[in-house]
Amino acid sequence: MQDEWPTGVIAVTGGIGSGKSTVSDLLEEFGATVIRADELARHVVSPGSPGLAAIKSHFGEKVVNGDGSLNRAELAQIVFNDSRQREALESITHPAIQHLASEQFRSAKSNGARLIVYDVPLLFEKGLDLLDFQAIVVVTAPPAVCEARALLRDGMSAASFAKRNSTQIPLTEKVKRADFVIDNSGTIEDLRRAVRALFDKLI
Ligand code: ADP
Repeated sequence: MQDEWPTGVIAVTGGIGSGKSTVSDLLEEFGATVIRADELARHVVSPGSPGLAAIKSHFGEKVVNGDGSLNRAELAQIVFNDSRQREALESITHPAIQHLASEQFRSAKSNGARLIVYDVPLLFEKGLDLLDFQAIVVVTAPPAVCEARALLRDGMSAASFAKRNSTQIPLTEKVKRADFVIDNSGTIEDLRRAVRALFDKLI
């Protein structure tokens, strides 16, 4: 069953290293309430959560560390080359994330948020663009720029960037499906100006 979302939520997405998090942080600085899917994803499998209990019951004791936290490396190993196991995992985590997101949107709305933003990296990959967002914002930059920024930020290798990136819908496709595009090929100051203009338009 689909959780009901309040109207007026703006989704922010993009590619790895395109600048989504920076855009969300800027929108927050200008006065938006930002809810981050990556944080919700961690929360729904935190120690003692129903999500982690369901994961343990499906995948076994080995996916939980001695301190009660999720053993991500072990779980990643299991789901890495097994699409059925990955689907089993997602059927536990996705509804929980979605439910928490809808709760947080409602609470932001009832607290009088001026603008509610959902920072959601895999919006298109997970079909969430079909949900009732007021607008979808895609943050884009040339592939080489995204790669250089991601490598610098995460200290990952070019190979692991390429591997992670290959599981995503190409950024050029996401741009076609956007209501607003933020071009982040310039400086941080350029980005700040573009995000300010967008904030003023959305508010
Ligand atoms: P994403 O969330 O899309 O993966 P981030 O917002 O984390 O991307 O940006 C990736 C890295 O690039 C971060 O370290 C960020 O500080 C940096 N960054 C973002 N935009 C710019 C820019 N216009 N110029 C230089 N560095 C940038």
